Amino acid sequence: MTEPDLPAELVARLSEVRSVGVVTGAGISQESGISTYRGKGGLYDDPEEGDRTIEALSAPTLFANPDVTWRVVADLARQAVQAQPNPAHLAIVEIEDAVSRFVLLTQNVDGLHRAAGTRNMIEIHGNVFETVCMQCQETGTLEADTLVGLVSAPTCVSCGGTLRPDVVLFGEMLCPTKVGQIQQQFHLAVPDLVLAVGTSAMFPYILEPLLVARHEGRLTIEINPESTPLSGVVDFWLDGPAGSYLPLLANAIKSSQSL
Ligand code: NAD
Ligand code: ZN
Repeated sequence: MTEPDLPAELVARLSEVRSVGVVTGAGISQESGISTYRGKGGLYDDPEEGDRTIEALSAPTLFANPDVTWRVVADLARQAVQAQPNPAHLAIVEIEDAVSRFVLLTQNVDGLHRAAGTRNMIEIHGNVFETVCMQCQETGTLEADTLVGLVSAPTCVSCGGTLRPDVVLFGEMLCPTKVGQIQQQFHLAVPDLVLAVGTSAMFPYILEPLLVARHEGRLTIEINPESTPLSGVVDFWLDGPAGSYLPLLANAIKSSQSL
């Protein structure tokens, strides 16, 4: 296999880039050993398992049978506990360090962007290690030890109520504060470069930052080995793994900033 390279026309356009917005999905953590839902090797390779997982991760299941939801959440959390940020997560931190304004919007709940050191970040779907009591609303954090042994819904130390994971389940509303941050940092102040990485781009709030940037004539890039609804929209679709392309892109951005 030949090493991937960045198109010369893309590198030339980086000289106009001073602000960057990045949108990530499960694909960026695939090279850290965390399964995606869609795409090759994802849960949906077995459609029945895919459907079961989506149903388990829905609000009606959480309220009717929280143990079912927790078993799926705990599986993802166990993978996340064992995972390390990969070169793609780290390259995103290098981009943040290099430019004058940076924002990351992630759908991931695995905490790997935080572990890598990303600072300005909107975790739109929450974080799998954080909990909220369904009775008294107290928030908390799950220890790795608790998670490893988890077979049923954990309970609140203050009131004994059932805890829920602080993640947005299928069929639930997004946090309005975070939606406001997307508006502010992607739609009102459109970054010079908006980059999508490892997302099947199924949700409007994930597509929109790219669509707005494209409409405003900003540079748009997608990194994904498979095509998505964004591939035909962006200026450049880099069809390969994030761990190969993101370090190249981070280096090219760093060089372009010193010009
Ligand atoms: P998705 O599972 O729907 O799609 C994954 C995408 O990543 C696919 O388009 C696939 O082609 C691409 N991909 C696979 N390997 C890649 C690689 N090495 N480099 C770049 N791209 C790669 O993911 P989604 O769009 O994030 O939607 C899934 C939903 O499920 C999200 O809401 C997310 O919260 C949740 N989820 C999170 C995690 C996580 O936190 N790591 C994992 C699975 C699912
Ligand atoms: Zn409680």
